Amino acid sequence: MPLRFFNTYSRKLEDFVARDAASRKIDIYTCGPTVYSRAHIGNFRAYIFEDLLQRHLEARGFKVHRVMNITDVDDKTIRGAREAGVPLVKFTQQFKDAFFEDAELLRIKPADDYPAATDQRYIDKMISMISALISKGLAYQADDKSVYFRINKFPDYGKLAHFNLDELQSTGRVKHDEYDKEHIGDFALWKAQNEEDGDVKWDSPWGPGRPGWHIECSAMATTLLGDQIDIHCGGVDNIFPHHEAEIAQSEGVTGKKFVRYWMHCAHLLVDGQKMSKSLGNFYTIPDVLAKGYTGREIRYALIRVNYRTQLNFTWDGMKEARESLGRIDDWLERLREVAQRENGPSRTDDKRPMEESEFEKSLDDDLNISAALGFLFETIRETNRLMDENKLDENVAAKWLNWWDQINAVLQFQAEEAELPEGVAKLAEARLQARLAKDFRKSDELRDKLNALGWEARDTKDGQKITRRAGA
Ligand code: AMP
Ligand code: ZN
Repeated sequence: MPLRFFNTYSRKLEDFVARDAASRKIDIYTCGPTVYSRAHIGNFRAYIFEDLLQRHLEARGFKVHRVMNITDVDDKTIRGAREAGVPLVKFTQQFKDAFFEDAELLRIKPADDYPAATDQRYIDKMISMISALISKGLAYQADDKSVYFRINKFPDYGKLAHFNLDELQSTGRVKHDEYDKEHIGDFALWKAQNEEDGDVKWDSPWGPGRPGWHIECSAMATTLLGDQIDIHCGGVDNIFPHHEAEIAQSEGVTGKKFVRYWMHCAHLLVDGQKMSKSLGNFYTIPDVLAKGYTGREIRYALIRVNYRTQLNFTWDGMKEARESLGRIDDWLERLREVAQRENGPSRTDDKRPMEESEFEKSLDDDLNISAALGFLFETIRETNRLMDENKLDENVAAKWLNWWDQINAVLQFQAEEAELPEGVAKLAEARLQARLAKDFRKSDELRDKLNALGWEARDTKDGQKITRRAGA
């Protein structure tokens, strides 16, 4: 089965064909955080879905160039800086830092570029795009000095969100607070300076002001990736008006199809409602860490449900994540032991294929992670049974470990090598020396001491191994 994704634009599953099929290079643009507060785990559901997408495409041999923007100027960041009484740059920096810290903890692969909207290079591009739109009759400066996109003049407006201009009027999906516009759906490209913006302003042909949120993404995406890109992602709340506007602006300027595949993830919910800053029902990564969970456990909890299905966040879900990862850890430990064994069984009853397994095939099918994980846990059950019956030979165990390395490149679930606490490391070292001196009585005493502390010392052909004692 070919690789296929659900395209929001067509509302269909489509076979994925890269723009440049020969080089297998693809571009992905993802809408990043608005840095006016710490991102919540709902935001991270979107970023983890994008990470899964990138890693699976890479596992399939594509070379991905991914850009994630940072929205560091908009109404919310300006208001936040004003309320905190600090300059905008200082205000947003703390949330940029926090974002990178959290993303690393969740093992999200860094993007190739993180353009920030306030970078003069992109402000210049925004201004040149707005000028081009005005000269084509697709934008106008209103009496309030702001510049708006004229949606009536862009026939495809509404195609992504799948509704027409008349519906716009009646759905209340656009605000009625800007009276100078020709159509209530016209959106701001350039916002004329107002008192509340303080010193946040740039010069432009239309007077001092600042860009609208939507033009920021069009400018950064086309500057770094060119006029056309393969995949553009975000959460479903980005579809309208943000991505609809990105299409209108970018295609309005270039006359070329902006994006081939639009992919959007469903929301993370809390008690049936969208997790969001405005509802105040959100958890940040530090909130979840404070309950004793780790980054990889949060990653598991956020990745395990197919991206187009809403996911309800619960603490039971976090417990399940911990248990599932524990099963994987135990399985790997057992496989490693069997793979190192010299006189194990010479045959195996496990004939299931590892190449092109159901894991990879499921992800090809619009990133069906539930089916992919289903296959992983079925494999764990089956190989554990064979190991119980002493029917898995060391070669097959080594092959499953190899397979794990490949799928873990996508999942990023493997436990980090536990660092030994200082006291434990000292006892382990002393035990090693005792064994070298052939003082086995002392070495056994030290093993008991380690045991009492919850650690197990094993002597393998590669030397002494210290691991957490089961149940400790
Ligand atoms: P923002 O910082 O609000 O611009 O959002 C950053 C990204 O997170 C966007 O792609 C949003 O669509 C996404 N997002 C926001 N809230 C949620 C949620 N509860 N679940 C999933 N994604 C979300
Ligand atoms: Zn965006």
